[in-house]
Amino acid sequence: MIQLRLSPGLPAMHEVSLAMALMDLVCAQATAAGASRVTRLVLEIGVLSHVDAHALRFAFDSAASGSPADGAVLEIRQIVGTTYCLDCEASVTIITRDAPCPRCGGVKLLAQGGDEMRLKEMEVV
Ligand SMILES: [Zn+2]
Repeated sequence: MIQLRLSPGLPAMHEVSLAMALMDLVCAQATAAGASRVTRLVLEIGVLSHVDAHALRFAFDSAASGSPADGAVLEIRQIVGTTYCLDCEASVTIITRDAPCPRCGGVKLLAQGGDEMRLKEMEVV
């Protein structure tokens, strides 16, 4: 019997272009620091950023291949989001993108923070 195995889906373009931009930044920083290799990266990703951490990790691994960041440990930390609830007329914190207002359960929320991706730390040798 022949068993076919499906290859994993490719990440969306969004994560691929983010990973490439991240690689550019990381390589520029490593060069500026006179480092030959990047061993660890810490990324902060806001829960409102629409970035899929799993897809980004996958895209990063392929973007890093053959670069100074090849094999670097990628640590991804999720950052809570801050939104303004139009019903409560107050700023509230949410921990997932689809979460309603924790005070009133309302969904009329405006993102105020936690929609960014940030390179927090980088270790080089
Ligand atoms: Zn509310």
